[in-house]
Amino acid sequence: MVLAQAAEGPPEPKNWLPSPSTHNVAAPTPNPSCPHAGIPDPLLGPRTKQPGRWVGDQAVRQNLPIVVMAGHADSQRLASAGTPGFAVDVKRQPPMDPAMRDELFWNFRVQKAVVRLGQQAGLNIRGYRPPTLTIPNDNDPRTNWSQARTLSARGTYVLEIHFDAYRPHGFGSGLIPAINRPLSRVDEALGRAFGRFPRNFRGGLGGPRRGIGILEIGMLEPPLENKLRNPSTRDQTVECLAQRVVDALVKGVS
Ligand SMILES: [Zn+2]
Repeated sequence: MVLAQAAEGPPEPKNWLPSPSTHNVAAPTPNPSCPHAGIPDPLLGPRTKQPGRWVGDQAVRQNLPIVVMAGHADSQRLASAGTPGFAVDVKRQPPMDPAMRDELFWNFRVQKAVVRLGQQAGLNIRGYRPPTLTIPNDNDPRTNWSQARTLSARGTYVLEIHFDAYRPHGFGSGLIPAINRPLSRVDEALGRAFGRFPRNFRGGLGGPRRGIGILEIGMLEPPLENKLRNPSTRDQTVECLAQRVVDALVKGVS
């Protein structure tokens, strides 16, 4: 495995000085109270009903820079604000935060946990959050899309957290990988853990064209949505979701 990676990957720069960016990546200790992956998955719900067939085989270095974004973090009150979720849309319950769609509320929570657990696991990972919730111009340099275009061109892996709409509108969990670059072992690990959307899903979405891997965690519907909304299971559920993401990221760079 290690030899194959070395043979296929880009030549590593030789430098005898200790590198400040050397990362000791290790999978986080499994949390015994998190449900194990399965089909159907007891935590995420069903995987995408429209599966892709891509394979990610490009090797990446262990200190691959990873930036995690929250989907729709700059498009509240715009057409692409994200799903309100089953509880708000169908059950007429109040939103988690009136300033944003429930999807973004949960995207933020999972984003934060992924960055924290990822750093604990030794990943070279950070989050990006636009300064305001509404930026009408996609090309404004502060949007997720603009940041992703620049970061991806520099070789940073950009992952955007999403929840899919509830049934029958949603598809299920899975990765919609970037379109602008060869697919890597990080894409592969996320595809194995969450499922794969077709690479050209809906003709190629704006995010993937700019180098964003869109990770649909699951559909925002019961039972997952209830576990998130219930204050007694909320933190644990966010933690388990984030751990699934971090486990996959660690596998991808190892
Ligand atoms: Zn979304």
